[in-house]
Amino acid sequence: MSILYERLKSTLPDAPRTWLVTGAAGFIGSNLLEQLLALGQKVIGLDNFSTGHRANLEEVRAAVGARAWERARVVEGDLRDFECCREACRGVEIILHQAALGSVPRSLADPLSTHANNVSGFLNLLAAARAQRVRRLVYASSSSVYGDSADLPKREEKIGTPLSPYAATKLMDEIYAGVFARAFGLDCVGLRYFNVFGPRQDPNGAYAAVIPRWIAALLGGRSPRIYGDGLTSRDFSYVENITQANLLAGVTESPDALNQVFNIGVGETATLNQLFDWVQRALWPESPAERWIAPAYEDFRPGDIRHSHAAIDKAKDLLGYRPTHRVREGLKLAMRWYRAHLAPEPVFEEADGVILTV
Ligand code: NAD
Repeated sequence: MSILYERLKSTLPDAPRTWLVTGAAGFIGSNLLEQLLALGQKVIGLDNFSTGHRANLEEVRAAVGARAWERARVVEGDLRDFECCREACRGVEIILHQAALGSVPRSLADPLSTHANNVSGFLNLLAAARAQRVRRLVYASSSSVYGDSADLPKREEKIGTPLSPYAATKLMDEIYAGVFARAFGLDCVGLRYFNVFGPRQDPNGAYAAVIPRWIAALLGGRSPRIYGDGLTSRDFSYVENITQANLLAGVTESPDALNQVFNIGVGETATLNQLFDWVQRALWPESPAERWIAPAYEDFRPGDIRHSHAAIDKAKDLLGYRPTHRVREGLKLAMRWYRAHLAPEPVFEEADGVILTV
């Protein structure tokens, strides 16, 4: 348990602030929106609904109630439009920037739009935050910046060379945030998320992440695909760990924590084979393992890194971050949402291939 986070949650409602959450209709953004509203904050949400869903906003409204929802204002707009960013930043104290086009394979298929959304859009937001005198900008980076570095666990100070346009955009964001901090005094904090999962992570589409994609396949009675031998490993993190890190970074008063990047994960790894077992155990706890569905193994995908494991000491020391949910606990919670949304009529748009987004 993070003592700082518990303290923050008890003090925030008495000192409401105005936050801007970009990507508020997406997976992580909508979870942030919900948590901030539940804590009595005023929140502006910005989204262009390219990968996010209005239904996520409806769910947040239902979860927090009509009165809390009055403190939310969701703007449909695009980061690639500077005026839109400037308008969204008006009166904002803290930005939690989540909007981006995720997925390594998507960026390989269309590097130009990944760059336009993730880098040009981010630069607009930085410039708008500066123009509107926003106090703090916390932004989503990614473990993909570790690229070809074979070092484990991954430590913030040593990255490798990016292996995809997506990774390059996240690294560019870190560079631009550093420049705006040094040149213009804008307080920025970068959070390198490792593989995140939880309610509202989209199970559909060609670029869906591994956990929701598997769950959708299993609920539909189909074999999910595993690329490689299943010994590929990742540091999977339940979304509540991510919201904790964002809120801590948003309000920290520690000068040592500003203008830094932090790994945000659990600090533990699971292989895909382990994860696959845990997903089935969470999905049908009553059913004996012999009755579980077997995965279909396919060739390794080019460009996928073999292992990823976050060292989280820096976030622990400087932000007071303490992940509260390990993978299996998170899976149980996530499963309630997927059961409610996918069963009994799972939605399949395409083949149920596994894509590891980072
Ligand atoms: P998501 O696709 O669910 O959410 C992204 C949201 O941003 C969507 O609602 C989308 O409509 C919106 N958006 C995209 N481009 C926009 C633009 N130009 N203007 C306005 N809105 C725009 O993705 P997510 O999983 O919630 O990811 C949130 C952030 O975390 C992203 O920056 C992503 O790169 C980063 N990240 C995610 C993971 C993960 O495992 N989910 C891992 C590492 C980093």
